[in-house]
Amino acid sequence: QAETVRVELGTRSYDILVGRGLISRAGEFAAPLLNQKRVIIVTDANVARHHLEVLDQAFVQAGIATQRIVLPAGEQTKSFAQLEELCGRLLDLKAERSTTLVALGGGVIGDLTGFAASILLRGVDFIQVPTTLLAQVDSSVGGKTGINMAQGKNLIGSFYQPRLVLADTAALDTLPKRELRAGYAEVVKYGLIDSSEFFTWLECHAAGIIAGDEAARRQAIVTSCRAKAGIVGADERESAQRALLNLGHTFGHALEAECGYSDELLHGEAVAIGMVMAFDLSARLGLAPLEDAARLRRHLASIGLPTDPGWVEGRNWVAERLIEHMGKDKKVKDGRIGFVLAHGIGKAFSPAYVDLAEVATLLEVSI
Ligand code: NAD
Ligand code: ZN
Repeated sequence: QAETVRVELGTRSYDILVGRGLISRAGEFAAPLLNQKRVIIVTDANVARHHLEVLDQAFVQAGIATQRIVLPAGEQTKSFAQLEELCGRLLDLKAERSTTLVALGGGVIGDLTGFAASILLRGVDFIQVPTTLLAQVDSSVGGKTGINMAQGKNLIGSFYQPRLVLADTAALDTLPKRELRAGYAEVVKYGLIDSSEFFTWLECHAAGIIAGDEAARRQAIVTSCRAKAGIVGADERESAQRALLNLGHTFGHALEAECGYSDELLHGEAVAIGMVMAFDLSARLGLAPLEDAARLRRHLASIGLPTDPGWVEGRNWVAERLIEHMGKDKKVKDGRIGFVLAHGIGKAFSPAYVDLAEVATLLEVSI
C-alpha cells in the first residue's frame, strides 16, 4: 500500500506517494492529472535498464501513450549542453503545452527534467518518479530545479513544482548500496535538525533500511518527506527555516568541491562528514554535548558512512583551501562564516557565525 505526503504550496500543492510497486501503477495515479493522453518519459541509461520498461507499460496499460528520452547517467548531464539536447528532443517529439514530462531517475534527471519542464513552451507539467533514496527524500521535495555551470553547481535553475511524485521503494532494490548509503545521510539530517525521536528511531532501523526492510524504508522516506515538506511549505524560497536543510552542507560542499564533485566522494558521503564536523564544532564551542557528536559518529559508522575526511583515500586536505571553498559557498562577514550548528541532536539552529580561526582549528584536528 502507499502512503501520501501532501506538500502544501497553495495552488501548486502536490502529493508524494510512497510505497512499493508504484512504478508499475504509475498510469493509474497519473491519469487524473494529465491534460493529454500522452507522456514523455525522461531517464538515464542506468535507470532505463532497470525501470523504464515497467513504467512505460504502466502508462500504456492505462491508455496513455509514451515517448522516451534516455540521457547519459551522471552529474555531467546537469549541463546547458544536455538541457539544449533535451529541449531539442522534446520539440522533435512534438511536445505541446498540454504534454506532461515524467522524470524517472535520481536527482540529476529530476533537476534537469524539472528545469526543462519549467521553460519548455513557457512551462509544461511534470511528474517525478525518483529512483534514488536521495531523490526520494530530498530533491523531489521543494521544487528546486536546475543545472550546473563551470562556475559552480545549481547556478542556473528555477522553482517549479511537479504535479505528483511517485516514490517507489522497490526502485531502491537496484540502486548500488553506496548510493543508498549516501542518500541515507540526508535522512539522518532530518533527525538531527529537529527530531531526536526520529534519530533514535533511525538508530534502531538503519540496518533494516539499508538491507531492504520495506516498512522501515517506507517510514523513513515518509518522515523525511514530511520534514522537508514542512520546512519548504513554510517558505518555498530561502528562509531561516530552509537554511536548516544545509546542516553539514557547508563543510560537505567544501570537501566535494575539493574532490571536483567526482566519485571519490559522493554528495551524501560529504554531508555525513559535514554533519559530524558541524556537531564537533558545536561541541567545541560549548553549544552541544560531546556525547551527541560521538553518538552521531557511531550511527553513521554503523552503516558504513564516512565520519571524517581521512576516509577519502590518497587525499591531502589543506585547511585553508577548504575554508576558501566555504567562503565561496557562504557569505563571510567580518572574518566569520555562517553555519548551521546544533545545541544537540534534534536541535539545529542557524545562522551561527563562527570565527574562521575556530573553523581552521577544527579542520586541522579533523583532517
Ligand atoms: P544521480 O541522479 O546521479 O543518481 C546516482 C546514480 O544512480 C546514477 O548513476 C544513476 O544512473 C543511478 N541510479 C539512479 N537510480 C537507480 C536505480 N533505481 N537503480 C540503479 N541505478 C540507479 O544522483 P542523486 O544522488 O540521485 O542526485 C544528485 C543530484 O541531486 C545532484 O545533482 C544534486 O545537486 C541534486 N539535488 C537536488 C536537490 C533539489 O532540491 N532539487 C536536493 C538535493 C540534491
Ligand atoms: Zn544534500
